[in-house]
Amino acid sequence: MASARDNCGVFAIYSQRPCVWDIFNGLDFLQHRGQEYCGIATYDDHIHQVTHHGRAGTSFTIQDLEYLRGNWGIGHVSLWERQPMSWQSQVGDISVAFSGNIINAEDLIREMKSCGHAFYRGYHVEILAKIIMESKDILTGIEAISRRVRGAYSMVILAKEGVYGVRDPYGFRPLIIGRDKERLVCCSESRALQNMDMEVVRDVAPGETVLLNDNGVTSVLRLPSPRKAHCAFEWAYTASIDSRIDGLYVQEARHRLGGALARRDREEGNDRFDIVAPVPMSGIGHALGYHRASGIPYQEVFLYNRYADRSYTQSSQTAREKMAKRKLSVLPFAVEGKRIVICDDSIVRGTQILTKVRDLKAAGAREVHVRIACPPLMYPCDFGVSTRSYEELAARHFLPKGDIKTMEELQAIEAWIADQIGADSVRYNSVEAFVAALGMPRTDLCLKCWDGVRPTDTT
Ligand code: SF4
Repeated sequence: MASARDNCGVFAIYSQRPCVWDIFNGLDFLQHRGQEYCGIATYDDHIHQVTHHGRAGTSFTIQDLEYLRGNWGIGHVSLWERQPMSWQSQVGDISVAFSGNIINAEDLIREMKSCGHAFYRGYHVEILAKIIMESKDILTGIEAISRRVRGAYSMVILAKEGVYGVRDPYGFRPLIIGRDKERLVCCSESRALQNMDMEVVRDVAPGETVLLNDNGVTSVLRLPSPRKAHCAFEWAYTASIDSRIDGLYVQEARHRLGGALARRDREEGNDRFDIVAPVPMSGIGHALGYHRASGIPYQEVFLYNRYADRSYTQSSQTAREKMAKRKLSVLPFAVEGKRIVICDDSIVRGTQILTKVRDLKAAGAREVHVRIACPPLMYPCDFGVSTRSYEELAARHFLPKGDIKTMEELQAIEAWIADQIGADSVRYNSVEAFVAALGMPRTDLCLKCWDGVRPTDTT
């Protein structure tokens, strides 16, 4: 896609053997959730911690892994900041890592500073940890977080008694439990469990805290959940296609989203296309879904350069565009003279899809029709997925008032975007079609990117 930015991935393990290699491997399987920073903390008689700027697979040294002793520990990958962070406190030695975003962070930091707290960097994880550490024990601290913090957090905590997995009462960010004979794991995505040959047990429920230790997996706290608000963007883009989030396989969700686009095209009589193709990698599931529902042949039209970094991790727009160009090159034989439907997950600024359309036409494509799984992005995320601002959202320039109320408004945006990017047509899934494709109640999802409604404000 697109230029949205993921947030973070968390991993926690309680094992009967030294755990550092398992954490290292687990982080590798969560790397798509954040590539700028990585960190591991383990526990034997005290906490050992190492963080790096860079990817897990290439940053940790053999010396790091030898230093990180102990049978239980936590790990983190991020685009934003170094985690975990560790403290000695009245609740014991703890290390904390989280995925999400705290909306009222500034207020909480101001308030806590006035009570004598010092902040190292003002990271949101510091807020969570300090609320825990000023409480009489960890569970009381987690309850206090649910009262004071507005936002999204899936959190792992390393302590003497084991590792905790905590999901906020709305369940914005995923958190799932796995096990085998020797290991218990709680992490952001099931792909880490599957690839470590572990059984996937279940998702942590919104508002639930689990403790992993010699007693197994214990649900130690169940806070009331005002409503669910699972991030809908996880299924369309953020999560890996081999994961299962809250009972729904990401691959299946993407097939259904692509299928919904195909059905709309058929209903509107737009089905004279030669091939359907993905923008790799994010558009593959959507394009396959389109192909399955339409019967139009699936064909790769871009060659993916596996040695180029993911484009949205680059900090400037120019750097992102150069990287996007390095990342995908056109396969001319596949496109010459063809009427192509090209599928992707979403459009943020529109500059990258514009490049793709231009490249395909330059390579001889007869027509290029763009199909986008998500509805037009109209609002920035408040819950930890993106830094995009209103100014960066292409569709917002056409409809400054915000969310799309009618099909006519959606069609007007589609025509305008098609004109902007030089495509023969553009279609998005409407919010209604998107929700129907996921097959979940609308009230179980966060759709704030598209409808502007903060789930935390509706209860
Ligand atoms: S605003 Fe969008 S990206 Fe953020 S949590 Fe909600 S659906 Fe996900």
